[in-house]
Amino acid sequence: MKKFADIIINIHSLPTEHPFTYLIPEHLSEIAVGCRVLVPFGSRKVEGFCVRLHNQMPDTNTQLKTIIKVLDEQAVLTPELIALSTWAADYYLCKQVDFLAAMVPAKGRTGVGLRAKRVKTAYITEEGFAAQPKGKKQALALKLLRQNKSLTLSRLAQAGVSSATVRTLAQKGWVKIARRQVRRDPLADLEVNKEEPIVLTEAQKKALTCINKDVSQKPFLLFGVTGSGKTEIYLQAIAERLEQGEASIVLVPEIALTPQMTERFVSRFGDLVAVLHSRLSAGERYDEWCRVANGEALVVIGARSAVFAPVQKLGLIILDEEHESTYKQEERPHYHAREIALWRAKWHKATVILGSATPSLESYRNAQCGNYILLQLPERIADRSLPSVEIVDMRQELKDGHKSIFSRTLIAALQDTLQKKQQAILFLNRRGYATFVLCRECGHVMRCPDCNVSLKYHLPNKELCCHYCDFTAPYPDSCPNCRGRYIKYFGTGTQKVEAELCKQFPGIRVMRLDADTASKKGQYQKVLGSFKRQEADVLVGTQMIAKGHDFPNVTLVGVITADTALNLPDLRAGERTFQLLTQVAGRAGRGSLAGRVVVQTYTPEHYAILAAKNHDFEVFYAQESKLRLELDYPPFSFLIRLLISGENEGQVINACYFLVSALADSVDVLGPSPCPIEKVRGRYRWHILVRGKELDLIRRSVKAVAAEFSQSAFAGGVRLTLDVEPQNLL
Ligand code: ADP
Ligand code: ZN
Repeated sequence: MKKFADIIINIHSLPTEHPFTYLIPEHLSEIAVGCRVLVPFGSRKVEGFCVRLHNQMPDTNTQLKTIIKVLDEQAVLTPELIALSTWAADYYLCKQVDFLAAMVPAKGRTGVGLRAKRVKTAYITEEGFAAQPKGKKQALALKLLRQNKSLTLSRLAQAGVSSATVRTLAQKGWVKIARRQVRRDPLADLEVNKEEPIVLTEAQKKALTCINKDVSQKPFLLFGVTGSGKTEIYLQAIAERLEQGEASIVLVPEIALTPQMTERFVSRFGDLVAVLHSRLSAGERYDEWCRVANGEALVVIGARSAVFAPVQKLGLIILDEEHESTYKQEERPHYHAREIALWRAKWHKATVILGSATPSLESYRNAQCGNYILLQLPERIADRSLPSVEIVDMRQELKDGHKSIFSRTLIAALQDTLQKKQQAILFLNRRGYATFVLCRECGHVMRCPDCNVSLKYHLPNKELCCHYCDFTAPYPDSCPNCRGRYIKYFGTGTQKVEAELCKQFPGIRVMRLDADTASKKGQYQKVLGSFKRQEADVLVGTQMIAKGHDFPNVTLVGVITADTALNLPDLRAGERTFQLLTQVAGRAGRGSLAGRVVVQTYTPEHYAILAAKNHDFEVFYAQESKLRLELDYPPFSFLIRLLISGENEGQVINACYFLVSALADSVDVLGPSPCPIEKVRGRYRWHILVRGKELDLIRRSVKAVAAEFSQSAFAGGVRLTLDVEPQNLL
């Protein structure tokens, strides 16, 4: 047994990143690398991660302290994950402890570890089998136990046998009571039929053969339109790895992690599947985590953080919809699941599949440069055609005196769909009723006092709401600026679409799915299930309805305005618009019925919209690349974003100028400038972009400057956040 343990203290704000050495007491011989522990630190008791065990007496004058306890029953981190945290902290310019904390399966209360669940269970003994009890209850208990061999005490209680009765039986030696471990199974309610692999098409076979051979050990970019059979390839590639005794991780965007998706994997691989996502309870997460760590579960499906699943023998990592921005964590630590996946694949010599119908510019360029291997599935399965996409110029509608939020084309298409008893989806990426409130006399716009963004008007409470914080206010009768009476709401959100639909088509059944209606637990699944059972004619929603769902009876998809994402001041605005439109359009015509898509826009000539209309990724990629190349933006350069925020704008600006002047002349600096969202929750936000051809170079330079900054007087009252390869510049 080793004498000392090196512990990284789980406190983000500690100035040092070095581990502290602690003594291991005799009774904690079970301690292992990767355990979480409780240790004395100053006058407090804090949590830490054990990263090394050794016998080297540290060179210090202070008396070593002793570990208080090991928190979790089973080490939550593997040596591989600890190595990963070191690398990732360096790559993403953050602290190792941030990654260690992000890798933990679930956070309990401080000082309370994660444990398996055990329940009192009665087991029948040999004597019990032969026994002739007198009492009625005792006889019932033994009868049940003879049938089942063992039952939990709570089960027996349900059957009318009290724990007192069970104890009496135990005294007689007829049953034994012991604690049995029970699995908290997030999929316990899922009922699935076993399914066999499908016979692949020629295109699928070709792709799968490449994947299974994996001669070059380079990541595969599986580029195939929605419905082209990518998931079937994933399933068969996973099966191949299972034959070799190797595990797989499948990452999907959180929003696409529907029961349908999970079902498909469980119907193929049964109990070998573990799911990991944020909607699981801490107990469920821990149990799934242990099943993965112990090698009981060899197919892990999960959202972003599942990329840290403690798989021992990893053969394959899949990122489905690899272009999704949700793979980038927007909080600390700011990591991209793709980058983490690539690192782990290298460590395990595992295969990587990045799948998408609309690959990110980064990945497609990597494929073109030969860093990734491009595999294509150009057609939908069974010759199902892609839906036809019509673009409607909303400027023309207005010119023709048609002021409704629904164009004449969309109204006609809706009528047609409703008449045929088919279903429609209407998409708008803005929730609430109206998007801003304006005084028509003085031009005053109602804004959030803490975030300086326009307030949205929401039904049914007729309130003004901020979408960046929880500020709400009653709708004003008069303008707070000029006292004018002509204050009014403008702009369209999903609530208005819903209301207008009911006005326009009396008697139709409308459902709405957005962050407001899905906020209650289980509501999201309920609405989707109900819509699938055709209990509504039209589903109105935000991006929540854009992906992952199969509604065979949906033949019409309407996009209320394609311009919302396009007008964002973000270098990826065009890319996001193209991806979103393609994704939404993919919802139409999934069944045997042909699909139709109507896209309303004020900029019908935009290349992203035209390319989406023609289902033409190549054209989009060519145009977008040209633009990015001219502007020297990713994927032709690398960016690091320095976000500076604070309650005092003067301090924020001073900090910005300190940082800019400290940055080496050799790096290209954009800004400082106020962020497009200038103020959130009372904090002013400015940013600086550092750009370079070599990520390593700008990373070193930013790292040095950040260190200098933290020692300077400018750091007071100001927070500096570093985002390497940012996905979001708002
Ligand atoms: P994607 O993941 O690209 O959207 P899927 O793998 O979900 O595509 O396939 C779309 C549909 O076609 C699914 O219903 C799937 O069961 C079916 N499918 C996939 N491959 C085949 C095949 N080789 N033969 C018949 N049906 C297939
Ligand atoms: Zn606010």
